Amino acid sequence: MATEENDEFQQSAKKQKLQSPLTPEACGSLNITKGKGQYLYDQNGEQYLDTAGNGVHLGHAHPRVVEAGSKQMALLCTNTRFLNDCMVLYAKHLCSTLPSHLTQCFFTNTGSEANDLAVQIAQRVAGGTHVIALEGAYHGLLASLRALNSNQVVERDGLYDVSKAPLPVSGSQEHQPNPVEEIVKQQQLQGKKVAGFIHESLPYAAGKGFCSASFLQQAYNAIHSCGGLCIADEVPYGPGCIGSHMYAFQKYGLTPDIVTMGKLVGNGHPVAVVVTTKEIADKFGSCGVEYFNTFGGNPVSMAVANEVLSVVIDEGLQHHSAEVGGHLVESLKGLMKTHQSIGAVHGFGLYIVIEFVQDRLTCEPDTELAEDVKSIMLEAHRIIVTTHPVYGNVLKLRPPLCITKEDSQYIVDSLDSVLTELSS
Ligand code: PMP
Repeated sequence: MATEENDEFQQSAKKQKLQSPLTPEACGSLNITKGKGQYLYDQNGEQYLDTAGNGVHLGHAHPRVVEAGSKQMALLCTNTRFLNDCMVLYAKHLCSTLPSHLTQCFFTNTGSEANDLAVQIAQRVAGGTHVIALEGAYHGLLASLRALNSNQVVERDGLYDVSKAPLPVSGSQEHQPNPVEEIVKQQQLQGKKVAGFIHESLPYAAGKGFCSASFLQQAYNAIHSCGGLCIADEVPYGPGCIGSHMYAFQKYGLTPDIVTMGKLVGNGHPVAVVVTTKEIADKFGSCGVEYFNTFGGNPVSMAVANEVLSVVIDEGLQHHSAEVGGHLVESLKGLMKTHQSIGAVHGFGLYIVIEFVQDRLTCEPDTELAEDVKSIMLEAHRIIVTTHPVYGNVLKLRPPLCITKEDSQYIVDSLDSVLTELSS
């Protein structure tokens, strides 16, 4: 489409409310027509470095994934009333990369559906309705999940009976008493049963950083001692992304009862999954609940996800993520010497956050600066970055894993120049 036609297209889309006000992302006004590797292209062929990934794990249009999906599309694409080899193959492959107690898969299409199902399983299997979530978390868009989230206007408090536990302030990671433990005790005093605890695998709060292993381990002990189930939400990471481990929850040495994964496992194709133990899956099955999801686990999604996992392993992307992510985090930390506005940089592999503050001592968030950085990175440097869904002063980098050291240096140099320009 020519530029003028595109402008018309955008205007008309806006008028017809085809552009949802619920997707205020950095690239909201771009008409992206093509993706390849770590790059996106607009209708004029302009190239953008994609550091937001958001679903694209290996890189856009990875040839092996495209081929696997196309081949299966030509062969069979149907609903999941039938058992299909593709589903069995992927379930086996996925479980072979997870701790040995996690053997049963329920497939869905989105991370939200996966988390909704995970909570249902916890409530049915452990009994009780109370669910504990953490401050700063986002678990999905369904009405049932809204009360678990930190960033939403919740008119009615979702469908669950929820408590929110704060993360410990950084530097006092032991956090005595553990807030999850405290909630469990309070619930027990009221004669209530806690069904489960759900957390993003790497819990994070701006100004506090990522939480410690001991905080989560204490929380798991408290939940398990009252018969509840622990759910690790792996949706935003994807296998190999954090570099040191295949899955993010493994970084903390945790043994979740249920793990949910989404978006990245399909490299942009809608696939999500709930993985749990045989004992839990059997108990859930015996509760008489039939879980049927028309497209969750369809052959095309399964063929795609299976290939994504194979590519992560064959191309050594976990190691690559550790190397490039390590370089990127160190270089970004280096910018803190010249730019006081960067309050903190944290990262594991290619999952990285950059906090902007008005004052490093008080950690007062600078949301306006983060927004300006996001816009100038896009307009002047053709880099797509997004802000954290809960903390507006935080830039979140989760690029496709094929990003190179040269790309990461380009991100650092561009950020350096944007911050210099904005401070002059
Ligand atoms: N959990 C987490 C931690 C997420 O980041 C997201 C999506 N950003 C979801 C769940 C929901 O996934 P989806 O948008 O695929 O429903």
